[in-house]
Amino acid sequence: MEEKPGYCTLCRSRCGTINVVEADSLIAVRPDPSHPTGQAMCMKGKAAPELVHSPHRLMYPMRRTRPKTEADPGWVRISWDEALSETAARLSTIRRESGAEAVVFAVTTPSGTSLSDSIDWVERFVRVFGSPNICYATEICNWHKDVAHEFTFGCGMPVADYANADLILLWGHNPTNTWLAQSHAIGRGRAAGARLMVVDPRPTALATQAQSWLRVRPGTDAALALGLIRLLIEGDAFDLAFIRDWTNAPLLVRSDNGRLLRLRDVQPDAPADPWMVWNSHLGAAAPYDVARPAASQGGEHFALRGEYAVATIRCMPTRTDKVPNTSPTAASSGADLNGAAVKAAWEGGTNSGGSNVAQPGETSAHGSGSYSAFLRDPDGHDIEITVSQD
Ligand code: SF4
Repeated sequence: MEEKPGYCTLCRSRCGTINVVEADSLIAVRPDPSHPTGQAMCMKGKAAPELVHSPHRLMYPMRRTRPKTEADPGWVRISWDEALSETAARLSTIRRESGAEAVVFAVTTPSGTSLSDSIDWVERFVRVFGSPNICYATEICNWHKDVAHEFTFGCGMPVADYANADLILLWGHNPTNTWLAQSHAIGRGRAAGARLMVVDPRPTALATQAQSWLRVRPGTDAALALGLIRLLIEGDAFDLAFIRDWTNAPLLVRSDNGRLLRLRDVQPDAPADPWMVWNSHLGAAAPYDVARPAASQGGEHFALRGEYAVATIRCMPTRTDKVPNTSPTAASSGADLNGAAVKAAWEGGTNSGGSNVAQPGETSAHGSGSYSAFLRDPDGHDIEITVSQD
């Protein structure tokens, strides 16, 4: 009997494992605590010997010898060389006769299958073949996590640095059930002092342990997100230098037509037509060459809120224009709590302090322009967060 270190490939967690092999057979798998992701394994990983030695496991290429209309496909085992040659020949013929787009590749999820270590090669093959058509089976959480971040930042979302975090925010994320290695990393971060905030309607294990648990009604996350964004913006609790340098937040927007103000709007004969910002130090609008760092153009003085008159044109920075019009009020008592529960929960998560749990109430829509999410604060007050897109 031999014990071989390795890792489980049955999902993206890739838990470190000790694999017990006897007479060339895998007979047991257990966690390898010396591996960075080997502190725990799920039942699927532990069942690997049953999968590997299952009599139903597909081990070799098979060719169908009867029509698809027949109950018995008449599978016949063929060699790998035959399978590869036939497949390559068929694909080449279709590409030559009809173009690469005529082929749609169907791919299963790498997140929950043993494809996790091969998916990059499969995708590379599809790209090299030339077809843009992939029929992709994946989890509902996957596209925004990977693709939205790829569009925004140029790469998929990496795993968080939980070990060095001050605040761990899990939004609809339950790694205790879905990603054991990440769950363990969160435990390490919390042991190092990180506070935990969970947004989830379900009492997950991590939600019940969190300093702040915002128990949203399913489907109302956007209202909560906009409310939190508003708290961040109103408190300037974000990286102002980054916003000035890397976003269009300081660019002035014309109040009369909603377009970005350009130099020729106020100086028609100007040789160039850059966008404009408001320089608070100069007390005047100034051109902004976005090809150069904001810091070299007085970026620390670029206004991010306010309303200004440039010649006869009233303008405000783009960022002001984008502040969510989210007005938290107390729905049941009628008292204006100014988003107290959400704010308290947020601050409970971001500062040291006691626990805050906001419970779900009702959700309503007010036509296409606005909608509400209701939370309940620890004192039983319902807090309505109304999001208006006006
Ligand atoms: S979570 Fe389970 S299936 Fe995924 S890698 Fe770990 S043991 Fe394997």
